[in-house]
Amino acid sequence: MPLDATAVAALPKVLLHDHLDGGLRPATIVELADECGYRDLPESSPEALAAWFVSETPRSDLVRYLEGFKHTVGVMQTADALRRVARECAEDLSTDGIVYAEVRFAPELHIEQGLRLEQVLEAVLDGFSAGMAEAQAADRPIVVRVLCSAMRTAARSLEIAELAIRYRDQGVAGFDVAGAEAGYPPTQHLDAFHTVQRANFHSTLHAGEAFGLPSIWEALQWCNAERLGHGVRIIDDIAVKPDGETELGLLAGYVRDRRIPLELCPTSNVHTGVVRSVADHPIGLLRRLQFRVTVNTDNRLMSGVTLSSELARCSEAFGWDISDLRWLTINAMKSAFWPFDDRLALINSAIKPAYDAAA
Ligand SMILES: [Zn+2]
Repeated sequence: MPLDATAVAALPKVLLHDHLDGGLRPATIVELADECGYRDLPESSPEALAAWFVSETPRSDLVRYLEGFKHTVGVMQTADALRRVARECAEDLSTDGIVYAEVRFAPELHIEQGLRLEQVLEAVLDGFSAGMAEAQAADRPIVVRVLCSAMRTAARSLEIAELAIRYRDQGVAGFDVAGAEAGYPPTQHLDAFHTVQRANFHSTLHAGEAFGLPSIWEALQWCNAERLGHGVRIIDDIAVKPDGETELGLLAGYVRDRRIPLELCPTSNVHTGVVRSVADHPIGLLRRLQFRVTVNTDNRLMSGVTLSSELARCSEAFGWDISDLRWLTINAMKSAFWPFDDRLALINSAIKPAYDAAA
């Protein structure tokens, strides 16, 4: 029997791919727009706005999907607004039963009203600290860390990589490159990735979402990314024969052999037109083939999902049970950019006991 979202919400979960500017509460967007004089919201009530984000989420195109971010980023231009959004994000993730999250955002998108990159990042880190403290007080502890994204369409990636490295001891987990993929190959940001690597720091990279294998290959073999943001197009390197036998190409074999984590986001991929439905999503096959699969939300607001709803949807589509969710959660925890002993402690103290009890 498939697990429903309520049952999944009660289990400890780990989230590695979630965008801060893709997960605002609709009511917060309305209030922040009011406070800062942002006039371009398509709807004025939180309910209508929530529906707008989801119904306006196009079904066929990443570039158009990204347009919704104009409004969320538009109201995240002051330190107070960034702090609030980050605090609420930590609270919402904790309410969903998440015990560890890496939330990403692009500091360079939040300087329209004069904030410096450092001020942007510090406000978000502050907000996460406050949210974590509130979650702890409510007996729903969560660890939330930051991934600093650079926009692949811009030319600030080296600066953002250096910023991320400077704040590694203040809650920054690693570096990422995000944004429209076609025409902006990962190798345009080689300096940034090599700077991160030479500092013994961590990087993931949006690759193999709208664009195919060359992007994944560059991310791994040129940029040395440790995880793949999406990476779903690795399916293009897996042949499924009529009898159901599968054959992995060299790149897919490399990804599986090296246990490279795939930050898969099923519903988001439906909304951006990568796949037609969650049931059609390669995550079912990739899980069966034992790739290092993780399940993620990408943009909770734009896709109208939580991690629990996403896992419940997968449970329904692929017949996943508690043991699958346990495997996925441990996969995600093992793949986090967090020290080994911390990961192990959370797996042994929080994750395994809860799944054993639920099973
Ligand atoms: Zn993403």
